[in-house]
Amino acid sequence: MEGKMIDENGLRIDGRKVDELRPIKIEAGVLKRADGSAYVEWGKNKVLAAVYGPRECHPRHLQDPSKALVQCKYNMIAFSVSDRKRPGPDRRSVEISKIISEALEYVVFTEYFPRTSVDVYIEILQANAGTRCAGLTAASVALADAGIPMKDMIPSVAVGKIDDQVVLDLCKEEDNYGQADLPIAVVPRTGDILLMQMDGHMTLDEFNKAMEYGFGACEKIYQLQKDALKRRYAVEDVEGLEEEAPREQQDMEG
Ligand code: UDP
Repeated sequence: MEGKMIDENGLRIDGRKVDELRPIKIEAGVLKRADGSAYVEWGKNKVLAAVYGPRECHPRHLQDPSKALVQCKYNMIAFSVSDRKRPGPDRRSVEISKIISEALEYVVFTEYFPRTSVDVYIEILQANAGTRCAGLTAASVALADAGIPMKDMIPSVAVGKIDDQVVLDLCKEEDNYGQADLPIAVVPRTGDILLMQMDGHMTLDEFNKAMEYGFGACEKIYQLQKDALKRRYAVEDVEGLEEEAPREQQDMEG
């Protein structure tokens, strides 16, 4: 896009500073039938993640006698974007499902559950750039919510470059017309990088700055992930939501 995407005050088209995240809300345990789930609103992105398993892996020839498989399906629903997306898998969603599966497999103690599959569904209900990061962030909360033993959760965020400046967490316009897009995902406990993709170009200095922004943001997102889990279990302890009684009965029980 011709013209500036960062104004003279250093603010972006949605009013954010270069190193500012969009508002993020995370809620754990939103689906009753799933073993674990999470809902994430991240700017205008709305993302649902559901985890089922570990359960017997089908078809059986995929079973691994030494460990569980982590099988993620990322799906963008048809009207999550302005130009209706043709339903069903495409190259992009197959790629994103693969990279998210690999990142999640790294943190799950898969050797505890041989021959099983941990199935992770990510549904993008509304998209505005950064959906793979929001999806992975949601999926790791859902895995933890399912009680699946894991080394850590995985916060994820995209950094990029617009108007020759490094910026954190690109929105749709910035993603479309910017100069670079660099999604990352990290293990906060160890600093390991589990996902890094790069679209566009950056100098080494810009890359280093992008990593500084990205790692800083992942720390904040990690805190939101932990807070979501704490809220989920604090409520459950008090109200016994596991077997939810009808409202009148709850009232009678006080
Ligand atoms: N997008 C779209 N139609 C598509 C795929 C993507 O409109 O078929 C939009 C959507 O808002 C998405 C953004 O383009 O979030 C950026 O897509 P990208 O492939 O960079 O992945 P993301 O940033 O969502 O991880």
